[in-house]
Amino acid sequence: MLKKFPAGVLVFFFLFSVSAVCWGADEDLTVYVTNTGERYHREGCSSLRRSRIPISLGEAVRSGYDPCSICKPPGLFGKAPVPEESGRPLYRVNVAELALSAEAELPRMVPAEVIDHVDGDTVRVRILNAPGSVGAVETIRLIGVDTPETVHPSKPVERFGKEASNFTRERLLGKSVYLAFDWDLRDRYGRLLAYIYTGEGRCFNALLVQEGYGFAYTRFPFQFMEEFRALEQQARNEKRGLWGDDDR
Ligand SMILES: [Zn+2]
Repeated sequence: MLKKFPAGVLVFFFLFSVSAVCWGADEDLTVYVTNTGERYHREGCSSLRRSRIPISLGEAVRSGYDPCSICKPPGLFGKAPVPEESGRPLYRVNVAELALSAEAELPRMVPAEVIDHVDGDTVRVRILNAPGSVGAVETIRLIGVDTPETVHPSKPVERFGKEASNFTRERLLGKSVYLAFDWDLRDRYGRLLAYIYTGEGRCFNALLVQEGYGFAYTRFPFQFMEEFRALEQQARNEKRGLWGDDDR
């Protein structure tokens, strides 16, 4: 068996596996948090009986969770957590407490101003008193909704893409909004994943789906997935927006 591999290859694999342990593996380790607690846990900890939300270790530490003193999960070695004391804590969506509309708890969310518009489901914001892991200016990809393409470099403008894009611009550009976050803080492009709430307490992500300006985007799990699916079904039934009969 060993004869098949030259020594150099074996050394390479050894170094590769060592480096993976030192630099990458711990950050991506899955730990668990609860709806209300301030600590993160190992799988199977007795504190997870009521709610159990998977999160990466890196994300847990950066979001300000402390390790549980009962199950003693690992910490992030050699990686100081980003200090959060300079800004307000990130408000994580909590299904039990957060509503999609008027009862939304705006004071607990992160205030921001929409300064630029990219397309129906992506905007740029300036974040006031930004929490440590969030920049003063960020590109936001709205969680749970996918609007037809308008700015993709290699794809044509899709049907109803323009309308969706205009709707977002008219409703959000220049407006003060509130941000809430879900399990994943960023997507693979580094964009901030957020729910945008209007000053009236409406969840704009949900509004896009409800009015037929976008699909419920359920490829990546989020806490309002079932609600968004139901909003899309309702929009389809009522032939709203992109579900309408007319060929635009
Ligand atoms: Zn625990």
